[in-house]
Amino acid sequence: MKPAPFDFAKARSLDEAIALLSQYADSRLLAGGQSLIATLNMRLSAPKLLIDINAIDELKGISVEGDRLKIGALVRHAQAERSAEIARHAPLVALALPHIAHPAIRNRGTIGGSIAYADPAAELPACLLALGGEVEIANATGTRAVAADDFFTGLFETALGFGDVLTAIRIPLAQPESRYGFAELARRHGDYAMVGLAAAARADGKAIEDVRLAFFGVDATPVRARAAEDAIERGEDAVGALAHDVDPQGDVQASGAAKRHLADVLLKRVLAQLAEPRS
Ligand SMILES: Cc1cc2nc3c(=O)[nH]c(=O)nc-3n(C[C@H](O)[C@H](O)[C@H](O)COP(=O)(O)OP(=O)(O)OC[C@H]3O[C@@H](n4cnc5c(N)ncnc54)[C@H](O)[C@@H]3O)c2cc1C
Repeated sequence: MKPAPFDFAKARSLDEAIALLSQYADSRLLAGGQSLIATLNMRLSAPKLLIDINAIDELKGISVEGDRLKIGALVRHAQAERSAEIARHAPLVALALPHIAHPAIRNRGTIGGSIAYADPAAELPACLLALGGEVEIANATGTRAVAADDFFTGLFETALGFGDVLTAIRIPLAQPESRYGFAELARRHGDYAMVGLAAAARADGKAIEDVRLAFFGVDATPVRARAAEDAIERGEDAVGALAHDVDPQGDVQASGAAKRHLADVLLKRVLAQLAEPRS
């Protein structure tokens, strides 16, 4: 299918993108286009104006700011995969990136696009949640930061509102005692996950503390498994506790019961990863 007709504008600065967004109610930002163009072609979405943000340099960098790693919205998945800063300071993101789609899609798709689109089966929203990161948002009135715990509000819904541009994400820098785990099951490598799990924790001697488990592909948003987190910290049966956290509905990929089983399997794998010091 072909998309419905739309006008096109290329924004050269963040201010210009915000001005266009605020001026045209029925407009949509175009980043990597790897999700948006498909929805236009299938006529699931028919905005009057596409605002191309790819030329906005302010959205492109990766930098350390205090105790956080800032990743600009327009950083592409492939760029992030090759980034020494991400490998060093955000190893969980580095673990997840190779699972996102295929190289051609990773060459165009952006970190900001993935977080803003908020597909419930996507890897990066779950990583941001597991890491306790935050989203930086700009609009005509200024900028604000929204914690990942508050950002994903529903199926493909986020805290982004009218006139908002996601400008960057910020992630606490990895520390020597940080532990990470990542696992997903997909029908083929590169497909969206049937179920996935991103995890972060802090090792204190033999104890594992500050555990954050973020499942994806099990609900409308990435889901914190708080009962399982508590069980890990108390040294109790985390897989048993997971029944309180995850109760997936079936979808085109798998039944709810199959997803529930896969969630247990992934939790066991990730627990083994969290138990090992980082190399
Ligand atoms: C075949 C295929 C397989 C895929 N598999 C996976 C997968 O396994 N895992 C996965 O996570 N993803 C997967 N993707 C999606 C891919 O990661 C996309 O790149 C990503 O979801 C969207 O990023 P984008 O830059 O392409 O955004 P776009 O498609 O340009 O935009 C997506 C949405 O986000 C909005 N948006 C974009 N940037 C901003 C911003 N800075 N501020 C506010 N709103 C913004 C747009 O307006 C649009 O509504 C797949 C895509 C394809 C085509």
